Amino acid sequence: MASRNARPLLGGIEAGGTKFVLAVGHSPQEIVARETIPTTTPDVTMATTAKWFSQHGPLVALGIASFGPVELDRASPRWGHITDTPKPGWAQTDVVGPLGRALACPVGFDTDVNGAALAENAFGAGAGDGSLAYITVGTGIGGGLVLDGRPVHGAGHPELGHMFVRRDGEDFDFPGICPFHGDCVEGLASGPAIKARWGKTLSELPADHPAHTYVAGYLAQLCHTTFATVAVDTIVLGGGVMQTPGLIERVRERTFAIGAEYLPGRSRQEVVAPGLGQDSGICGALILAERAFEGETD
Ligand code: ZN
Repeated sequence: MASRNARPLLGGIEAGGTKFVLAVGHSPQEIVARETIPTTTPDVTMATTAKWFSQHGPLVALGIASFGPVELDRASPRWGHITDTPKPGWAQTDVVGPLGRALACPVGFDTDVNGAALAENAFGAGAGDGSLAYITVGTGIGGGLVLDGRPVHGAGHPELGHMFVRRDGEDFDFPGICPFHGDCVEGLASGPAIKARWGKTLSELPADHPAHTYVAGYLAQLCHTTFATVAVDTIVLGGGVMQTPGLIERVRERTFAIGAEYLPGRSRQEVVAPGLGQDSGICGALILAERAFEGETD
């Protein structure tokens, strides 16, 4: 009889390349249990995930905010799959199907960064604004967009990290490390790009090292172009590289300097750290579950 009166439970998964964060909650802001498991093979990771939820459910809906690239077109037979990832064993993996069947509930699915953007827009750094970009700068650079409260998908999903940027001043020596584009912003300013170029993380380099200026400059171009393209109110910058002391201040200053006060809406726009700390992704996954429960299909 207790279950009849129990409040419905949502499940969320922040599916990353190194770990899966699992949570159940009565709402995206009311998490009642959580767990972190390593990302190993798809079979083992998904079985461990399904088992944990079966012990903490039943769920009324599940939301998955996943590393990608992913298929988000519900008309495609591959909807809910991780597609061409270089992560060994994970290319063309159906994430939604096995978990939806195991847990017998509707599933919401989106990119990890769109999930984080939803959460930051709903009750994080952008709460109260209509539109927000969440950009993570770490192992790669990824960006999710929420416009008028809805996550943005097009033919695929945004890949802000592969935006091209103008070289800064005399900075032409380093070819960039993106296997597809060389010197896109991910190829120039992601954690592995910084390590490949200078042999250290940005935090390990002295504060007066030119790396700080270059990286901030490239990230500022990414922010400016994002503001110029979709006119969001807020850009949230997260990820490991953004933990570098002073970096967000440098990026913010450069973003608005290169924007030259031209963009309409400038007075409302801001570049900020995540309001939810490390929880943007998992809270976003729970929002995806809530949307699935309510029948939202984008
Ligand atoms: Zn690229």
